[in-house]
Amino acid sequence: MGVIRHRMATTAISPRLRLRLTHTAEQIVRGGHPWVYSDSIRELNRAGHTGEVAVVFDRNDRFLALGFFDPASPIRLRVLHVGRPVTLDSVFWQQRLAAALRRRDGLFGADTNGYRCINGESDGWPGLVVDRYAETLVLKLYSTAWLAPVGWMLAQRSLGAPPFGLDLSGLLIAALQPGRVVLRLSRNLQSAAADHGLADGQELWPSPSDASALPPASVHFLEDGLEFEAEVVRGQKTGFFLDQRENRRRTATLVEGAEVLNAFSFSGGFSLHAARGGARSVADLDISPVALESARRNFAFNRHHPRIAAVRYEQVQADAFEWLANGPSRAFDCVICDPPSLARRESERPGAIQAYGRLAASSLARVRRGGVLLSASCSAHVSTEEFFGVVRRAVRVSGRRAEELATTGHAPDHPATFPEAQYLKAVYFRLLD
Ligand code: SAH
Repeated sequence: MGVIRHRMATTAISPRLRLRLTHTAEQIVRGGHPWVYSDSIRELNRAGHTGEVAVVFDRNDRFLALGFFDPASPIRLRVLHVGRPVTLDSVFWQQRLAAALRRRDGLFGADTNGYRCINGESDGWPGLVVDRYAETLVLKLYSTAWLAPVGWMLAQRSLGAPPFGLDLSGLLIAALQPGRVVLRLSRNLQSAAADHGLADGQELWPSPSDASALPPASVHFLEDGLEFEAEVVRGQKTGFFLDQRENRRRTATLVEGAEVLNAFSFSGGFSLHAARGGARSVADLDISPVALESARRNFAFNRHHPRIAAVRYEQVQADAFEWLANGPSRAFDCVICDPPSLARRESERPGAIQAYGRLAASSLARVRRGGVLLSASCSAHVSTEEFFGVVRRAVRVSGRRAEELATTGHAPDHPATFPEAQYLKAVYFRLLD
């Protein structure tokens, strides 16, 4: 036990938090799954604090794992390390970051400077995401454990040694050399963050801001040479749906001369790729005027491209579920259907599966003969097989002949190493009649 050392600023006088798990949970953790639910914890030596590091011992009293403890979350422990005892210090974190960056080595050339650098658990950083948009890094937190090290960044060493030996800003700045770092917080973290002096959207570096003086909201970056804005301060996720890059690329190869409908278009990512890919027209369909305004700006940034200047571009602001099912009787050569998550929790899963079926049916009813349907799902609670199953059924029920062109999953900069992280899936059909 003496070989495990780490610093905890807030609990220096308490003994280290030690856990024992159920037999099943022990095996799951040993197998590399990063989450331990509250009902899998068999024994604790004391009450644990939010965000402290806990050590898991196995049935034979040997070190099994280290993780972040959160007494308020059903995911009671997010595993940081499994295997031999380690010291949480600057070397540990440096190696973690280097491993994540190595995974992205060679993925993107100079024409793509928007990508994910750290994807949470799947990169060994449970509950933490870092996205790069050109010179800007967006640090998004999904776990309370990161509040202390990020708070320490702002207090700039006045609190002594950093929690868990992690000087996050120092590490990120040295490795990625950003022009600035913006903090984003998942909704459930916002009140806990205030206790650490942190607010959603604030600039962490180079000039720490508070919530009343938010930094410039939008950042420009490149995706395959196309210029986009990302609303890093207030936008969804970290400001852009970087996870759909590979699907946008693939769609661009399928739309020469096509009339394209981009349902749930957000800021027009698919549309710009389609326009440059030779689409004759593109229509963005979204309920949000803010998203559509951003799409208009994104088109404007790329007008120098002859195909983008030539495309017939249209926007429809409407509820896409309603428009696809009951809107004007229009058909397209390509329909892209990428709705927001339809199941935020497990109980919403059955309804979401039905909704995907209805969406697929109404989308494919608008695809002309010879045209393409792309159906995507980002609902983690709906499995890949369930989603593909319901879309395939909709195609069968339509009575049309169709060729399944491809199925896709996660982008390479969004690795997903365990089932709950595998939220994104898409399937492509060509309708033959
Ligand atoms: N395909 C996009 C990402 C889609 S995100 C991309 O590549 O960037 C989901 C989008 O659905 C958001 O823009 C949101 O405004 C929109 N949306 C949510 N509910 C909607 C509804 N009922 N009808 C139309 N759009 C909706």
